[in-house]
Amino acid sequence: MTAQLELEMLPRLLLVDDEPRLLSSLHELLCERGYTLVTAQSGAEALAHLVAQKFDLVLLDLRLPDMSGHEVMDFINANQIGTDVIVMSGEVGIEAAIGALKRGAYDYLRKPYSREELLKTVTNALQQRRLEVANARIASQLENSEKLYRYLVDSSPDIIYTLDHEGRFTFVNDRAYQLLGFSREDLIGKHYAILIHDEDLERARYVFNERRVDERASRNVELRLKCHNHPGADRTFNNTLMTISLNSIGMHVPDRDVRKLEFFGTYGVARDITERKHAEEVINYQAYHDILTDLPNRMLFKDRLGLAVIQAKRKAAELAVMFIDLDRFKLVNDTLGHVKGDELLQQVAMRLKQCLRRGDTLARQGGDEFTIVLPELRDRTDASAIAEKFLECLHQSFDLDGHEVHISASIGIAVYPVDGETIDELLRHADIAMYQVKALGKNGHAFYHNSMLDVSRQKIALEQSLRKALDNDELEMHYQPQIDVVTGRIIGAEGLMRWNHPQRGLLTAGEFLPFAEENGLMLPISDWMIKALCRDMQIWNAAGGQSIRLSLNLSPQYLDRGDFFEKMRGALVRYGISPAQIEVEITENICIRSPQYAIEQLNKLCELGVSVAIDDFGTGYSSLSYLHRFPIHTIKIDQSFVREIHDEHGHYPVILAIISIARGLGLHLIAEGVETEVQARYLRSHGCVTMQGFLFHVPVSLAAFICVLEEHFAMPDAENNVASLQA
Ligand code: C2E
Ligand code: CA
Ligand code: CA
Repeated sequence: MTAQLELEMLPRLLLVDDEPRLLSSLHELLCERGYTLVTAQSGAEALAHLVAQKFDLVLLDLRLPDMSGHEVMDFINANQIGTDVIVMSGEVGIEAAIGALKRGAYDYLRKPYSREELLKTVTNALQQRRLEVANARIASQLENSEKLYRYLVDSSPDIIYTLDHEGRFTFVNDRAYQLLGFSREDLIGKHYAILIHDEDLERARYVFNERRVDERASRNVELRLKCHNHPGADRTFNNTLMTISLNSIGMHVPDRDVRKLEFFGTYGVARDITERKHAEEVINYQAYHDILTDLPNRMLFKDRLGLAVIQAKRKAAELAVMFIDLDRFKLVNDTLGHVKGDELLQQVAMRLKQCLRRGDTLARQGGDEFTIVLPELRDRTDASAIAEKFLECLHQSFDLDGHEVHISASIGIAVYPVDGETIDELLRHADIAMYQVKALGKNGHAFYHNSMLDVSRQKIALEQSLRKALDNDELEMHYQPQIDVVTGRIIGAEGLMRWNHPQRGLLTAGEFLPFAEENGLMLPISDWMIKALCRDMQIWNAAGGQSIRLSLNLSPQYLDRGDFFEKMRGALVRYGISPAQIEVEITENICIRSPQYAIEQLNKLCELGVSVAIDDFGTGYSSLSYLHRFPIHTIKIDQSFVREIHDEHGHYPVILAIISIARGLGLHLIAEGVETEVQARYLRSHGCVTMQGFLFHVPVSLAAFICVLEEHFAMPDAENNVASLQA
C-alpha cells in the first residue's frame, strides 16, 4: 500500500473545547488510538481548521467563548463540509441535544462521559463513516460505469438492441435513431417487424429473434430495414431501405434448475452496410454487363443460356443460340475511329434489342459480336424469322454524327439439342455457322451443320501454324513487276508475301494475312517483311535492278504503332538501300482516319525520300479531303474497277474519274490486276500507262524475279515485249 493511501486511511479528528484541561485529556486519550488530531479552543479557531483541511470527525463542545457549537455546525452544514460531528456538552437541557441532532450530529455525549463511552462512540462514528465513504465511492463508480457503457453503446457505429421474448424492443441505442429515424420511444415496446422490409420478414423471423447463444447464433445475416421519415412531416414509413448485417444471440437467465437456461430475449448488433451493398451491386452489375451497350455480357449470357438449357431439357423443348457478327465493322472503326465505332455498336445494340421477344437474352460477347438465346423455340423457322428480322433492322443506314454508315451482319444459329447439348458446344457451333455465312459472302444467316466443322478446324489449324511459320522461316517475299506500257520497261515491283506451308504448299497473302491481322501477328510479320525486303533488294541491285522501285504494303496495324519509321530507316541504312527506291502502299482507310502519328511518320518517311501510294483507291469510304493532308505520290486503281473493263471502247466512269483525279493532283497512277489486253488497252488509251497484273507477270519468287530482271536488261529493245499493246 502506498504511503499516501495509508495516510488517507488514518482518521483525522478535530477536537474543539475551550477548557485546556479537558482538551488535553481528550487528546491524550485519542492519541493512543493512532488518530491524527487537531485541536481548537474557540469557535473561530475551529472554523479556520475546518476550512483549511478535511476531518473525518469533529468532537465539539457546545459552549465556546466566541460562539456556540450549534453555530459551528451551522457553518459545517452551510459550507457542506463533509465531516461527522459528535457533540459533547455539560448542558442538561434537552434542547441542546435536540439542536445538535437536528443539525446532523452523529451523537451527543453528556459531560462528564466515560472513557469507554467516548471511545466507543468515536469508533462507531468512524466505522460508519468509512462504510458511507465506501458506499458513495461504489455508487459513483457504478454511475460512471453505467455512463461509460451507455456512452459506448450509444456512440457505437452499429445499432444495438435487445428484444424481449416476444420480439418487442426493450432497448435500442441512439444509433437507431440516427440511422433509421425512429426514436427510442417509437421503438421500445414495439415488435421488430415494423422495421423489416416486407420481403425480408420471413428471413428476419429466423434471425432477428435469435434464441441460440453459441456458434450457431446468427452471424452476418443481411436484412433490409425500413427507414422512418424524419420527424416533422407525416410519420409514415417510406421506401428508403437500409441494408444491415445482423449478428444476434439469445439472452438467457439461469433457471431454478441451474443447468437449464430460460430464454428472456435477444441481444443484437446491426451494422449499416447500405453503402457497401450499393457498391457491391454496382460492381456486380458491371461484372455481368457490358459497359458500352449496357447489354448482358458473356458471363451473364452463359448463365442465362445455362438456365434455358436446363428448362429446355426438362420440357423436352428446343432452343436456339445465335451468334451475330457485324460485317465490315472493322472498316468503320479504322475509317471513322473508335469513338464512332463505339457509337455504332450502341446503335446496333438498340436496334437488335427492339427485335427481341420477352424472355430472349441479347448479350455482347465483345468487339462487334453479339449472342442471343431464344428459349422455347417452336421450330427452326422461328429462329430463321428472327434472324431475318435482325438483318432487316440493320439494313437501314446508321447516322454517326452526320456520317451515313451501312452495315450488315452474319448470323450463325445452333439449335439445342441437335447441334449441341452444352453451353460451350452451342456457342461454338453458332460461331462456326456464323463464319460460314461470312465465307459465303456475309449478310445472311445459317444454321449449324456438321459439315461446317471441317472448315473451322482448318481455320484453327491455320492460325496455329502461322505462329510457327515465322519461327520456321516459312515466309518469303514474291515480287510482281510493274510495267510502263509505253516503253515496255519494268519500272518497279510490288513485294507480296507468300507462305510456304509445309502441307498446303504456297499460300498467297490474301489467304493468310487476314488471320494475322485478327490474331495480332501482323507486327512480328511486318518486322520480318521489312528485313526480308531489304535483304532481297541487295540481291536485286547486284543483278542490275537499281533503277527499279520496290512497293511494299504497309499494314494499318503496323503504321499505327509509333516506331515504324525508325524501323524502316534503320533497315534501309543497315542494308545500304536508297530511300528513293522505296514506295510504301497504304490503304485509303488509314488516310481517312488519319491519326496524327501516322501522318507524322509518313511525313518523316517522305523527308527521307520514300514515296507513298494509296492502295485499293476508291474502295474505302470515299472522301478525298485526305489527299491534301497526306504526302501522296501515287494512286493505285483497285483491281475491282479494272476487272469491270470488258470492252475496249466501253465507258467506265469510275476509272475515268480516278484518272482525272490523279492528273489533277499531279499524282502517278498504277492500275493493278490487269489481266486482259482489252483492259490494258482501255487504260492506256485513257492515260494510265503503268500497270501490274497477270497479263504481264504473276508475282514470282526472288530467284525468278532476278531472272526476269536479267532477261529484261539483256534485251535493250524491251519495248518489243509489249509491242502488241502499242496502237
Ligand atoms: P494488294 O496490295 O491489293 O495486292 C494485290 C493482290 O492482287 C495480290 O494478292 C496479288 O497477288 C494479286 N494480283 C496481282 N495481279 C493480279 C491480277 O492480275 N489478277 C488478280 N485477280 N489478282 C492479282 P495477294 O498477294 O494475295 O495479297 C493480298 C493482299 O495482302 C494485298 O493486296 C496486300 O494488301 C496484302 N499484302 C500482300 N503482301 C503483303 C505484305 O508483304 N505486307 C503486308 N502488310 N500486306 C501484304
Ligand atoms: Ca498493294
Ligand atoms: Ca491493291
